Amino acid sequence: MSEPTIFERIVAGDIPARIVYETDTVAAFLDANPLAPGHTLVVPKTPYERLDEMPADVAADVWAAVQELTPRIEAAVDADATTIGVNNGEAAGQEVPHVHVHVVPRFAGDGGGPIHAVAGSRPDLSEGELDDIADAIGSSE
Ligand code: 5GP
Repeated sequence: MSEPTIFERIVAGDIPARIVYETDTVAAFLDANPLAPGHTLVVPKTPYERLDEMPADVAADVWAAVQELTPRIEAAVDADATTIGVNNGEAAGQEVPHVHVHVVPRFAGDGGGPIHAVAGSRPDLSEGELDDIADAIGSSE
């Protein structure tokens, strides 16, 4: 059996964390190295590595938790907004191989950027390339 992920160990109570939400399937706790006050991670208790590995009912539970927690997090730290995201795979910056949704409080003038800032340089795609990509996405299972 593989080693439990750090988030499984948090859920099991083996590693201390500031848990702010818990159900049978989902937990949420403050990030240990917050990007902003209130930066929270929402995780399925089962350690699926990638988003597509989560069964639909668990994904729904995770998203319901994100929706419920977001206004509570904003209110707790008096944030103006939130950026919500998932590093889905190592090349995207995922360090912990256990799905987690980052809820990052944002403040007017905080110096951060939008989600558009996370990728590298923008591609210059022709109409044909865009059609091919859309077809490939639309026709894949
Ligand atoms: P990733 O880069 O995988 O999307 O983000 C992993 C996040 O987990 C990081 O923001 C990091 O600060 C957080 N993290 C890593 N180890 C721990 C831990 O032991 N406790 C908590 N609360 N957060 C952690």
